[in-house]
Amino acid sequence: MITTPLSLFDTRTRTLMPVTINNEKCARIYSCGPTVYRDAHVGNLRTFLLSDLIVRTLAYAGFTSTLIQNITDVGHMSEDLHEDKLLAESAKRKLDPYAIARDYEDRFHKDLALIGVAPASGYPRASESIQMMQDLIVELIEKNFAYVGEDSSVYFAAQTFPTYGEISGNRLDALQPGHRYEYTDDGAKRFHADWALWKSAGNRTEMVWDSPWGPGFPGWHIECSAMSLHFLEGHVDLHLGGIDLRFPHHENERAQSNAAAGYEVVTQWVHGEHLLFEGRKMSKSAGNVVLVSDIAARGLDPLALRLSFLENRYRSQIDLTWDALTAADSTLSRWRKKLKDWGASTPTQESEATIAALIALLMNDLATADVAIELRQIERDESIPRGVRAHIFRTIDQIFALDLDRAEALVALTPEQSALLSEREAARADKDYARSDELRDQLLALKIAVKDGPGGQSYEVIS
Ligand code: AMP
Ligand code: ZN
Repeated sequence: MITTPLSLFDTRTRTLMPVTINNEKCARIYSCGPTVYRDAHVGNLRTFLLSDLIVRTLAYAGFTSTLIQNITDVGHMSEDLHEDKLLAESAKRKLDPYAIARDYEDRFHKDLALIGVAPASGYPRASESIQMMQDLIVELIEKNFAYVGEDSSVYFAAQTFPTYGEISGNRLDALQPGHRYEYTDDGAKRFHADWALWKSAGNRTEMVWDSPWGPGFPGWHIECSAMSLHFLEGHVDLHLGGIDLRFPHHENERAQSNAAAGYEVVTQWVHGEHLLFEGRKMSKSAGNVVLVSDIAARGLDPLALRLSFLENRYRSQIDLTWDALTAADSTLSRWRKKLKDWGASTPTQESEATIAALIALLMNDLATADVAIELRQIERDESIPRGVRAHIFRTIDQIFALDLDRAEALVALTPEQSALLSEREAARADKDYARSDELRDQLLALKIAVKDGPGGQSYEVIS
């Protein structure tokens, strides 16, 4: 067991814990990935940035990481209607669910790249990992942690796992029947807090697989147990996700994984707080869902989003605004310009001491907000030689990844290009295809190539 210099708050023990690495010098990290029935919004991206920040901070300290992030393309049921999110989207838009899934998966990768998130070691898809989920379910039945219901679904028997509730504080004896958690409609459960590992197909015909219990599909929670155990070989040093996943998703995952393995599979559970936008929870119905493409369409650098995230610690809620994003965008441009003016880095004893102090802040539960404040002070402090300032900024940028050495800002869209893109999106929504084709040609003349996919319109700036 190796102890790294990075400490993170562990949700289960509610303590600040040094990150430990189980075997070698490589941290094994699992981060719950996107459900690919829609674009990731900026809130999701805040959570997805957390793994990148941790991987970069560990790398600075000399540790490599294996990061696995799953792609949920089956089994994630909506809380209100108990429908598979992918199939509901497929029915609504009369498109193949896999076509929708692959398109949004592609867009997810592009969005991550735009905010400087380095690719994970692997992005296994749920629909391609069915066998490992079934193997795990067989094992859980054999070990008497799970049972086949009269409806041919397989359920995890919550009461067989005595420490259920340690992550979220939701102990089984306090969970009332009818409490709002997933799968309350599962009729064949023996106990109200049991959950489905495998759901019998019933009259569902798409995204269904054969199994020892008849045709069906996996539950969402078993997906993360199966993938983390398989791809990280039985042990997870750090398990990441948004705060809403503590219960029931991570609680159920912990029960499944520990029950099968016979030991505590995850050393540390780390959760990122949520992001609000202009004071409200982002939701389709409130009409305030913000995507990376919305930021780019306003002519702002997507890395301004990354800087806005870094200006807050991952464990505090952020209320993001367009004003804050615009301010972050000008900070970025200013820093890039200054770095160019400051010229070459000149490391000195003084710069090394300052860097050590900044890194210490990051090692203490990723105090990125404090580092951002310090950077602003260093930027203004004329008593610090320019080359020293340059060295400090460049070093911190190995973790902040704001691309500060970029000579020119990314080609920002002109107001005309942005307006035409929005107009074309609206034309497509109105099914006015003649107008949308016209706008496509106009955009092409302005060096914007527009592409349509099941996830909607996307574009590339062509040179
Ligand atoms: P989903 O695609 O809905 O399964 O969510 C992907 C990730 O985004 C999960 O880790 C969620 O916890 C996280 N998440 C969802 N909404 C927000 C939000 N508003 N702010 C931060 N993270 C979020
Ligand atoms: Zn998960």
